[in-house]
Parts: sequence; C-alpha cells; structure tokens
Amino acid sequence: MKKTAIITGAARGIGAAVALRLASDGFNVALNDLDEAGLAETAEACKKHGAKAEIYTADVSNYAACETMVKKIKEDLGTVDVLVNNAGITRDGLLARMSEENYDLVISVNQKSIFNMMKHCLAIMMKQRSGRVINLSSVAGLHGNAGQFNYSASKAAVIGMTKSAAKEFGARGICVNAIAPGFIQTPMTEALTDEQKAAILNLIAMKRYGTAEEIAGLVSFLAGKDSGYITGQVIEISGGLTI
Ligand code: NAD
Repeated sequence: MKKTAIITGAARGIGAAVALRLASDGFNVALNDLDEAGLAETAEACKKHGAKAEIYTADVSNYAACETMVKKIKEDLGTVDVLVNNAGITRDGLLARMSEENYDLVISVNQKSIFNMMKHCLAIMMKQRSGRVINLSSVAGLHGNAGQFNYSASKAAVIGMTKSAAKEFGARGICVNAIAPGFIQTPMTEALTDEQKAAILNLIAMKRYGTAEEIAGLVSFLAGKDSGYITGQVIEISGGLTI
C-alpha cells in the first residue's frame, strides 16, 4: 500500500511543487488549501504520477477544522505517514505601523497551524511508530527581517516547535525537521517591489532566487528512506543568502 503525505498550502507555489514531487516519489497525497480551484489543478497533476490525490479545504489556523480534516484523510487514504506544514502568509510592515490584526493573523496561520496539524497527525503517527514531519520555517525565523516582525516571530516559533516535537517523538520513530528557505520564486515573493528584489539578489551568493522544485527536492529527501536518522534540524536552503 502507498504511504500518505499531507501537504498544506498545496494550491500553488512551494506546496504545489512538493505535492507533485511526493506524488512522483510514490506517495498518495492529501492536498489542503483554502483555494479549491488551485487544489483541483494540483490534484490533477499528482494523479498523472499514479497517486491518489484528495483535496481538503480546511483553514489550517482552525483547530477543530484540522481535527476533522485529519480524521477524514485517515478514512480516505488509510494512513498518515508524512506531514508537510507548508501553508503560510505574509502581512509585512514595520513594527511601528503593524496592526494587531495583522500580527494575530500571521501568528495564527503560520504558527498555530503547526500545533493544530501536528497534534492530530502525531496521534496517528505515534500508533504507527513511524512518521515524518517537515515544517516550513524561513531565513526570517533564523535571522529576523526588517518589515517582517510578525512573520519572523511565527517562523522562529516553527523552529522551537520542530525541536521540541523531535525530542518528544524521537523514541517513537518519528522525525521532525524544519526547512528555512531564503527567497524562492513563488506568488508570495512576486509581491515584492522591483527595488526589493534587486536588493535581495545582491545578497544571495548564487545571484538567483531558488525554485519551488528545489524546496520540493529537500522535502522529498526528508520524507524518504535516506533521512531516517535526521531529526530536530533546521535546514537552510537559500543559495548562500546568510553566509
Ligand atoms: P504562496 O503564498 O505561494 O502559497 C501559500 C499557500 O498557502 C496558498 O496557496 C494559500 O492559499 C495557502 N494558505 C494560506 N493560508 C491558508 C490557510 N489558513 N489554510 C490553508 N491554506 C492556506 O507561498 P509560498 O511562497 O509557496 O510559501 C510556502 C511556505 O514557504 C510558506 O510557509 C512560506 O512562509 C514559506 N517560505 C516561502 C519563501 C519564499 O521565498 N517563497 C521563503 C521562506 C519561507
């Protein structure tokens, strides 16, 4: 029987690339996003790799919705073997001008979602005594970023949650790791101004943005058989942005 991977935020960008890669690696995929049309496109592409691809439109910041979704995924696909917590948003702005609403929203979508999804998926993985969790953090969570006070806070929290869960669940054969991308070409970074893009490129040793497929390759490794002794790590993938 094929293993099941859950990918949140799978309608576009990094999440869609991860879903396709895991489908081509031989996983059935449970695809989550708020964007149903985008999810349907990702699902069609995954099915071309022979995967079962089911779609779920739960808001990952909602605890009860995540509980219901994970239960449904288990019923639909039989197991939960890999969880990729990828859904995320930005509401950038300087702290001096940041609204409470934009602070709370980013924390709830980027940070509380990790609790919501891990809580329900790990209950299943614990019984199986195996599983992989891959959480999307960011270089902003490792190093901070001006204009991203809320986002950096949420992505730093992802690292703390990753390391704590790795310690709690290691003895059950479950690996929990985080990925910290730098600047990856997706709809999220298309929102930057040309001036911001030029300034960022200048800082990247490799002088180019990363691709969603390059992130998907690292997720594939962390979800696969060759990474079974790696846990609690944060792997930066940034073309040398921070060296
Ligand atoms: P994106 O904006 O292109 O895609 C994010 C997806 O998440 C969207 O399809 C969106 O609909 C979905 N989503 C948002 N809120 C949701 C919710 N409440 N419930 C379910 N789905 C929701 O972003 P991306 O660039 O592909 O980024 C994916 C992840 O990687 C994010 O966590 C992001 O913070 C992280 N990341 C991205 C970059 C980058 O340069 N693109 C860098 C570092 C980290």
